[in-house]
Amino acid sequence: MLRVGDFEIYLLNDGTVHVDAGGPFGLVPRALYGRTYPPDENNQIPMRLTCLLVRVGGKNIVIDTGLGEKLNEKGKAQWGLVRELGEGLVNALARHHLHPEEVHLVINTHLHADHCAGNTVFAPNGAGIVATFPNAEYVVQRREYYDATHTNERTRGTYFEVNFAPLIENGQMRLLDGDTEILPGLFGIVAPGHAPGLQVIRFESGGEHALFVGDLAAYTVHFERLSWMTAYDVEPLITLESKRVWQAWALRTGATLIFQHDPFTYTAKYVEQGDKRRLIPLSNTYD
Ligand SMILES: [Zn+2]
Repeated sequence: MLRVGDFEIYLLNDGTVHVDAGGPFGLVPRALYGRTYPPDENNQIPMRLTCLLVRVGGKNIVIDTGLGEKLNEKGKAQWGLVRELGEGLVNALARHHLHPEEVHLVINTHLHADHCAGNTVFAPNGAGIVATFPNAEYVVQRREYYDATHTNERTRGTYFEVNFAPLIENGQMRLLDGDTEILPGLFGIVAPGHAPGLQVIRFESGGEHALFVGDLAAYTVHFERLSWMTAYDVEPLITLESKRVWQAWALRTGATLIFQHDPFTYTAKYVEQGDKRRLIPLSNTYD
């Protein structure tokens, strides 16, 4: 558990997918990224699906919901999804003695499938799709919701209405208009690039700072190297400028950075050492 002032932050693992390295590393030559993230014989690399459980003031908050439980075997195989015993968001919550009914708030950084498919599940009686967290309010940026419902040839492969439309229809999902203090000290801040409506989640409490980096920088190396962008980013040069802003913020605040997809480093601090700036990995534990 990571403590940031009043916030208790737990890193939960929804599983690990295996994706073509050309996804996370886009135009970066394999000779460069391969040193840190060696691809397997199928040119695939692991990508973790980290979600957060945040506890503060008696509230249980889930940030991003991973790939969820609606995938059939073919869908799981396409993602190369591997879940070890106890992994999967709902299982991971159970380890913290939490039932889905006890979650008060769900925050989606954005609506790409690997971040929000766990928002909904098949109804137990087989009648349609319902909220995974029946008593929670869900929030996402209004711009992201617009893009998710107005897809084009480039974006339609990752936006699936089953993951969010039922929550709009039943009034559980609230749309945010830009930067928002969602709870005292917990902010959704728009960090465009990967998607125009992507929000990163900033924590500030008791003089301490943390950031759930999300897909602003999927792997730690994306945070360190401004020019390394994923092929998934729809506005790569805007990603670059967003990362520049958050690099400066991380140096200034000494924040703990929480990475969502990196298979090796889950949390880190960004520091200046002489004339170099680099990430220093912190402990890798989900407990
Ligand atoms: Zn992602």
